[in-house]
Amino acid sequence: MEQEDHAAFETRTVTEGEDPFRVGSEAGDVATPIHLASTFALPGLDTDLSLENVDPDRGEFLYSRLSNPTRHALEKRLASLEGGEHAMAFSSGTAAIFTTMLSCVEPGDHIVAGDDLYAGTRRMLESVFRDRLDVAVTFVDATETASVEDAVTDETAFIWMETPTNPRMTLCDVRAIANIADSYDTSFGVDNTFASSYFQRPLELGADVVAHSTTKYLNGHSDSVGGAVITSDDDLAEEIAFLQQVGIGDMLAPFDSYLVLRGLKTLSLRMRQHETNAMAIAEYLEDHEAVSAVHYPGLESHPQHSLARRQMDGFGGILSFELAGDLEDAKRFLEALEEFTLAVSVGGVESLIEHPAAMTHEPVPRQEREAIGITDTLIRVSVGVEAPEDLLADLERGFEAIQKPTTTADDD
Ligand code: PLP
Repeated sequence: MEQEDHAAFETRTVTEGEDPFRVGSEAGDVATPIHLASTFALPGLDTDLSLENVDPDRGEFLYSRLSNPTRHALEKRLASLEGGEHAMAFSSGTAAIFTTMLSCVEPGDHIVAGDDLYAGTRRMLESVFRDRLDVAVTFVDATETASVEDAVTDETAFIWMETPTNPRMTLCDVRAIANIADSYDTSFGVDNTFASSYFQRPLELGADVVAHSTTKYLNGHSDSVGGAVITSDDDLAEEIAFLQQVGIGDMLAPFDSYLVLRGLKTLSLRMRQHETNAMAIAEYLEDHEAVSAVHYPGLESHPQHSLARRQMDGFGGILSFELAGDLEDAKRFLEALEEFTLAVSVGGVESLIEHPAAMTHEPVPRQEREAIGITDTLIRVSVGVEAPEDLLADLERGFEAIQKPTTTADDD
């Protein structure tokens, strides 16, 4: 049965949005069914079809682009876990971010964004908002709250941050930036993908809107691409829903909604194991002579460890590190691994590893990449939930490959 919002987070990951005796259900399913219908039968011709009068909470649906029972169950759970009033599920994190930004700005406006962003978001800001929609964009080092304050002007309509960032794992102070946004009457959004709602809830720290790539931790099994937006601001929610349903027509499909509903049931368990494993790996790497730096907010050496303790409930499962070598060493290291899969993306139960300069952040010009610390020897790890000893043994295999270059027949 549905839980009140005061139930613990772990309880709500399992039960929020589930209702075996939901309107229209006779079987009493304890897991939300996948409603594939694109359209729903109406009781009669005199039905009021205005969107405000079709209420999914009363089991009323009209057309699946507007709302769908499986997606609606997921949206209820996402809102509850993030501590918001409204949630909307999209077909990708990119669509969720784009729709959020578009609902907050118009031509001539200004956006302030962190400079260490998911490369796709950065490209969206530059190539779509700046170059096509005439929205000015200023990228700032958001680890310094003062840089954000310096960049905000009366024309700033939106502030956009990721924390922790991809791939350098830097943090920004969400509460302090929310105060700046309030003083300029500007909306402030946070991409909470890397921490997940389990470890961080930016709305509780004063952000106006949160986006996720549900592709990552919320689904957690690398088998669905999706996104979500959560807010408690009624006007903003209305605008985002309008753009989603009418302006753009982008929503999460019923099967993917079901997958994320199912994935969320183990979010707490997964996140705890991701973090335990990530901490073990971060400590191992920090002591390794072939590593020159480790970026993980859970380490005391992380420059924002105390901020992480303050604004997060844990440190997450993603870290990055610098090999004390060159590009060739990075290649040999990555190619020697057997447990870690060389792949982009993060947040699945399996451990993934990638080389940002050659993979996720390759589209960012080298000079800009290097200015934000994405060097040729930076490696990003999305630590899975496997046994940590197997992951550590695999990393050791990678380090051995650097120390002993592969032998050729001539060496014998
Ligand atoms: N935000 C972050 C932090 C990401 O890492 C990604 C993808 O890697 C996205 C947003 C985009 O999400 P999607 O791939 O679901 O469109």
